Amino acid sequence: MKEYSHPRCYARSLLNCSKTIMKEHYISSSVLSLIGTELEISGTPWLKGQIKKLTINNITSNILCGNHNSQLHRLDDYAFDFFSLLKKSTTMANTTNNIAHERTIISGKKIESWFIKLYLGAHWSGQFGKDGAPLKTKLDPEKYLLDNVFNDIPLPHDFGLYLVNLPIIKTFNGISITSYVCPIANSKILAITCSLLGLPFTISLREAIHNGTGKIDHGQRHPRGITFENGQTKSELIFDWT
Ligand SMILES: [Zn+2]
Repeated sequence: MKEYSHPRCYARSLLNCSKTIMKEHYISSSVLSLIGTELEISGTPWLKGQIKKLTINNITSNILCGNHNSQLHRLDDYAFDFFSLLKKSTTMANTTNNIAHERTIISGKKIESWFIKLYLGAHWSGQFGKDGAPLKTKLDPEKYLLDNVFNDIPLPHDFGLYLVNLPIIKTFNGISITSYVCPIANSKILAITCSLLGLPFTISLREAIHNGTGKIDHGQRHPRGITFENGQTKSELIFDWT
């Protein structure tokens, strides 16, 4: 088993695949139950400006073997705890008769890895595209992305999680993912923005152009945290990046 590489597992280059492929939600169902069961995928030039709508039933995919799938459950468990806190904080900030000040430390690295896992799952199940056609998914993911989610190795350069200081906009009860595709040459996805509970999280995935970086304009890489305030109520979620 140690040297086996399952042809349908996106982590096959790591070699320790099991023989079975798991059909699972690539956004874990526990997280979906918290932040909404609808999914919208958009992005220029994907779908030529249209939005692709999916429901909880059609975001399952056979993209990881049993062994690699089970290795990532820890990220889903952590994401569930984080989004539970985020939901509690947004609710608290909307309630005026509370006097409270809460401060919670969260591992930014684990949340960042969870977003990378989300990207890998959505990409390798063929959800992203360009000019109305799915992007090819035959190639293995970059090793630094696999190393990040499976081995906790930090992402290179200035890739990773960014927060852009935007007001919270509750657009719809679900998750929206927008992809930014490189307009030249390889058509690879440079970054995605996931809006969860109305908060936009942007994840830079690779260099934008030759010798360039994946830097997100006007965004803070590895943000210090998120603060929710309403009168006497304050909830701080602090990201630990060590
Ligand atoms: Zn595998």
